Amino acid sequence: MKELVIATRNRGKMKEIEAFLAGLVERVTCAADFEAFPETVEDGATFEANALKKAREAMKFTGLPALADDSGLVVDALDGRPGVYSARFAGEGADDAANNRTLLHELAGVSPERRQAAFVCALAFISPEGEEKVFYGRVGGCILAEARGEGGFGYDPLFLVDGFGRTMAELSVDEKNRISHRGQALRQFREYLE
Ligand code: IMP
Repeated sequence: MKELVIATRNRGKMKEIEAFLAGLVERVTCAADFEAFPETVEDGATFEANALKKAREAMKFTGLPALADDSGLVVDALDGRPGVYSARFAGEGADDAANNRTLLHELAGVSPERRQAAFVCALAFISPEGEEKVFYGRVGGCILAEARGEGGFGYDPLFLVDGFGRTMAELSVDEKNRISHRGQALRQFREYLE
């Protein structure tokens, strides 16, 4: 593929995705490379709906094939919350620390065996020719009562990864990419392009 636009303003995320697609896409750009790139309102009820909406708007604006992801944390004992509200669990504009405090507060008194959760990701690809495809990733774990580890971002320090005995924030970048929800979805997209 000649050119692909990633519907994110986050250059870190763009670089991460670009690395996954090395050799398959000649030029990767993102929202920050365009003037007046539209800000998609993420009001979908599902990760899939939000990812599709972001990809569709990016494709329409640029006329290029577009890729968008939407991801978050789904906690069983909270009936799937924070889900699509993961980035703003503690309110609009909340930072990671505030969101983590809210998560611990909501799970106060919930026993360790009832603290299962998962990170999930939907990755949508839309081409100007009308091709539409969504890829999914999921990694299971449980929510600790206190943070561990310095890596990653978001809820990583509270998320003990199933079968690893370490939190997502205690994994190296490579280890996280190998198992993460986003890594799984990106590898499927890579295979699709191949
Ligand atoms: P977005 O899809 O990149 O906008 O992520 C939505 C929110 O989900 C983030 O702000 C985080 O709170 C949470 N989240 C998504 N992926 C991860 C992850 O890999 N680790 C920790 N938190 C994540």
